[in-house]
Amino acid sequence: MNPVQKRRLAEAVVNICRRVYEKGWVANHDGNATALLEDARILATPTAWSKGDVTVESLLVVDGTGQKVAGTTRPFSEINLHLAAYRRREDVRAVLHAHPPYATALACAGRALGRPAIAEAIVSLGDDVPLVPYAAPGANKAAEAIAPYLDRVDAVLLQNHGVLTVGADIMQAFLRMELVEHLAHIGTIAQSFGGARAVPDTDVPALLAARAKAGLTPRPRSTTVSATATASAPAPAPAPAPAPAPAPAPAAARAHAANALAFAVEFRSKQ
Ligand SMILES: [Zn+2]
Repeated sequence: MNPVQKRRLAEAVVNICRRVYEKGWVANHDGNATALLEDARILATPTAWSKGDVTVESLLVVDGTGQKVAGTTRPFSEINLHLAAYRRREDVRAVLHAHPPYATALACAGRALGRPAIAEAIVSLGDDVPLVPYAAPGANKAAEAIAPYLDRVDAVLLQNHGVLTVGADIMQAFLRMELVEHLAHIGTIAQSFGGARAVPDTDVPALLAARAKAGLTPRPRSTTVSATATASAPAPAPAPAPAPAPAPAPAAARAHAANALAFAVEFRSKQ
């Protein structure tokens, strides 16, 4: 990535921070954003800054373990949540976290958004926006809690905390958060009319097929490994697992651990 591309990436992150602030999705120093640099380092917003005030110059660079390698500001404490996303998913190149009011209200009430009530949103987000059980923000436990969910979804509610979305770039992560908040808002209004009805089960497979065709199905790193190892085998079905149970099987967990390690080694080797 040349300096011009890096500058553009930084400007994109700053632009999204401003939009997050202007939408009222954060207060005080809430929220954070990261984007993957091509040299396997991560561009990150600084801690203790309003997202309305973040500048290109205030951004910093961290390695795969969250340690600062460039910049004059300090990394935010929730960086582990972002690192979990990069470790688990090969298609994730940006992560956004904020506290948009309607979706965060759901999360504080201990409720998932679940299957989007708008059919088109199932193409964009899949058929589940789950709730990750509470874990103290910034703690390693929070990263461990969120990681299995990110194998199958691009947006999660964090109980008593907020929302985290991932994307192929920071704009996609932003648009996903915008859609989650819009759905939560609509769902709240629909309560006045007896509550939103679910998109019929029978229609969901076609919507998920459209999602897969658009290249939007999550790609966990372990899937990539097994797909490479069985290159001659037929491609697996693209539909994400609809079950809410987040815990991976032990073998999958070991594969994830191996990939996470590979990710960290890759980062260190490129410093
Ligand atoms: Zn937070």
